[in-house]
Amino acid sequence: AEELKIAVGAMEISDKTVSDVMTKVHVRESEYGGGESYCNDVFMLPSDTTLNTKTVAEILRMGYTRIPVFESDRNNIVSLLFVKDLALLDPDDNFTVKTVCGYHEHALRFVLEDTPLRVMLEEFKKGEYHLAMVQRIVEKEGHDPLYEVVGVVTLEDIVEEILQAE
Ligand code: ATP
Ligand code: ATP
Repeated sequence: AEELKIAVGAMEISDKTVSDVMTKVHVRESEYGGGESYCNDVFMLPSDTTLNTKTVAEILRMGYTRIPVFESDRNNIVSLLFVKDLALLDPDDNFTVKTVCGYHEHALRFVLEDTPLRVMLEEFKKGEYHLAMVQRIVEKEGHDPLYEVVGVVTLEDIVEEILQAE
């Protein structure tokens, strides 16, 4: 516990923000020249995904506990799917991600990428949620600012940063 206190102290003065430790959503041009394609380190699902044997197997194979769910585009995150929500599902029912998320309504939280790690850690310590969507504000002349989803951050990302700082 003493060691952790020291480490937290070290981190507090290190001035890092959420964007330094988050898992990024990467967007890049297609290598095949066929227009734009998205390559995401963050594993997300479209809300209209049907949860059949094939898609459930793929979700399990990814190994993540919490999966952001989007509607129509990746900046429009509407809920989180927890892998444990799939446990009692009958794949033959062909429910959609949207339906399953509707049963559970896990807390969905957004933070800005420049949120200090110290502040994020205090948030996670409250225990209400363990993964936050990270957003960036994109200013466009003549328009309201847009929020772009740039990553996810979890307690684990912060703990890793603390251990590195030691
Ligand atoms: P848990 O350990 O609570 O079962 P987990 O292994 O899914 O959950 P964490 O341990 O919280 O996730 O985080 C491990 C790493 O995975 C972190 O770097 C986090 O940013 C990243 N991560 C979490 N969820 C996703 C996701 N859906 N897609 C990509 N990366 C993720
Ligand atoms: P307005 O006040 O112009 O009516 P609004 O209340 O709908 O807009 P904002 O005040 O811009 O929205 O943002 C409220 C919260 O919603 C912010 O904390 C922001 O993080 C979140 N938010 C806004 N746009 C998005 C989006 N596209 N995806 C996810 N979260 C968003």
